[in-house]
Amino acid sequence: MKTTRYFSFISFILMLALVVSGCGNSNKDDAGSDSSSSDMKEGGEVNLYTSRHYEVDDKIFADFTKETGIKVNIIKGEEDELIERLDREGKATKGDLFFTADAGRLNRAKEKDLLQSVDSETLSKNIPENLTDMDKQWFGLTKRARVIVYSKDKVDPSELSTYEDLTEDKWKGKVLIRSSENIYNQSLVASFIALNGKEDAKKWAQGIADNMARDPKGGDRDQAKAIAAGEGVLAVMNTYYFGQMLNSEDPEEKKVAEQLGVFFPNQDTTGTHINVSGIGVTKHAKNKENAIKLIEYLSSKKAQGDFAEANYEYPVNDEVKPTELLQSWGEFEEQDLNLSELGKNNADAVKIMNEVGWK
Ligand code: FE
Repeated sequence: MKTTRYFSFISFILMLALVVSGCGNSNKDDAGSDSSSSDMKEGGEVNLYTSRHYEVDDKIFADFTKETGIKVNIIKGEEDELIERLDREGKATKGDLFFTADAGRLNRAKEKDLLQSVDSETLSKNIPENLTDMDKQWFGLTKRARVIVYSKDKVDPSELSTYEDLTEDKWKGKVLIRSSENIYNQSLVASFIALNGKEDAKKWAQGIADNMARDPKGGDRDQAKAIAAGEGVLAVMNTYYFGQMLNSEDPEEKKVAEQLGVFFPNQDTTGTHINVSGIGVTKHAKNKENAIKLIEYLSSKKAQGDFAEANYEYPVNDEVKPTELLQSWGEFEEQDLNLSELGKNNADAVKIMNEVGWK
């Protein structure tokens, strides 16, 4: 009696499984009359505030629309301007997502209460925890390292070791690095505060200010160009700028990059500084579900591959390999740090840089 019941229960489950899987198949085959295709037509939209200006982003958003039917409206602007705009618009904002470079800046949006927490298994699976805001208000999507590039003529890489070493007397008047107003440098100092404490971070900033080849000017690429112009022998810059220069359509820029080598500092100590560009759902998003779908898509293997391919950034998704160029630079140890720390220590970093006279 018991066994019969048991078997009929099993066969019931089996039948149910067949029916369910059959439905799944017919849905896929029958595009045109099932519910997923009506989603295609009425996928709605999502409004993205972004400070990124890469063609690849547009391509990735177009692919997302093709796949989901959700239209992506892109509103471009300068980073801090977009933060101000979200703040000013408040509840009335049309912005569902904020996409920008640097964890420090993402944290500014968070601190102004412009973002909201998002719980998503897909995101937890695709994006490492240390590249995600502690309260899940923003998610890293592309990763970069802040490295040393050096003149292959004037510097033997065996002379290089750590960020701290750049403050030694042997580099006096030889170090190129951009202004302290720049968030990448603020985040670099913020990482040292988190890892080594304020006092050491200040010592480092002082040492760098003392060893600068010139008063800071220009962006990361300009530091590399200044090496070629003989103004200094090494520079601190983000990996993707170096990748862009090596592959530049401008022959001059390419020539500059080819004279330089890339070095990942602090491999035997605290690791090389990394940062991300990342995205968060706005506090007053009207299309929250679509916004989450877009972030999930951007963390997927496909989109991560596209990001990596086009902009020489490291994928955050472990299942995706960086491009051959980045692989040729070798694997490296990263700072063991939750990037939320960069935002937390930003104000102290700015204060320190001002105190030591880093222009
Ligand atoms: Fe940049």
